[in-house]
Amino acid sequence: MPLSNEASLVSDLPALGQDPGRTYRLGIMGGTFDPIHNGHLVAAEQACNDLDLDVVVFVPAGSPAFKQDRRVSSPEDRHAMTLLATADNPRFLVSRMEVDRPGVTYTVDTLELLRAYYPDNVELYFITGADAIIDIITWRDAARIAQLAHLVGATRPGYDLESARASIAASGIDFTVSYLEVPALAISSSDLRARVARGQSLRYLTSDAVLGYIEKRGLYEPPRLSYTAPDALGLIGGLGRDVR
Ligand code: NAP
Repeated sequence: MPLSNEASLVSDLPALGQDPGRTYRLGIMGGTFDPIHNGHLVAAEQACNDLDLDVVVFVPAGSPAFKQDRRVSSPEDRHAMTLLATADNPRFLVSRMEVDRPGVTYTVDTLELLRAYYPDNVELYFITGADAIIDIITWRDAARIAQLAHLVGATRPGYDLESARASIAASGIDFTVSYLEVPALAISSSDLRARVARGQSLRYLTSDAVLGYIEKRGLYEPPRLSYTAPDALGLIGGLGRDVR
């Protein structure tokens, strides 16, 4: 029997909350992941350990709200790379919930769906880049996000934590935010895309499986002009022939 829309969106989520005598902590790693890299993985691992999370579900954004004017790789490619990168960690899972949800991706919709799916003894921790969180007051239903989840902002080395804190405080919304300093976030998706475009290696910046996928699919390569040469010199039919 086909699953209803909402049931199919939660079909790849882990079972949590079975023991009413304890609290469970679910990490939700939100990002565009174009592509996913080792900085993301280290951030998720660090969040898992520091915040004592039971599991981290990576949720690649289907159609990122703030990237409507930019070219982003397809949700399927970003989902596939996220699966490949996380496959060997039993505490990391990947959900298609934002990939399969039609329309622009809003975090509040994801958190509402998770809140409705899990019992109250499952707490939600939404993890993403601190640079993204600093803008959270401009996100759809920011006040509702504050009620639904704890926020976890992963920072790059040298990040100005004080101005981030001040900007969240100035919002007047009662967000609970933890910050993680993640030195490996010196790596960025935009740098990886630029490296591919320049023909440079991505080895050791992301997993070998992701690297192979990017190559196989030709992601981030500069677009090639398609040009059919006129056979003005009569050479095209004679390729491989001695024309001296
Ligand atoms: P972004 O603006 O592309 O990212 C801002 C910074 O955060 C970048 O430096 C990025 O580095 C880093 N970052 C992004 N995701 C990260 C993660 N999971 N862990 C560590 N660093 C991360 O952000 P985005 O990818 O578009 O959005 C991030 C999340 O916020 C997504 O889940 C998105 O749906 C949500 N969001 C929601 C709304 C809304 O509901 N209106 C609006 C904006 C964003 P990399 O480029 O290296 O990842």
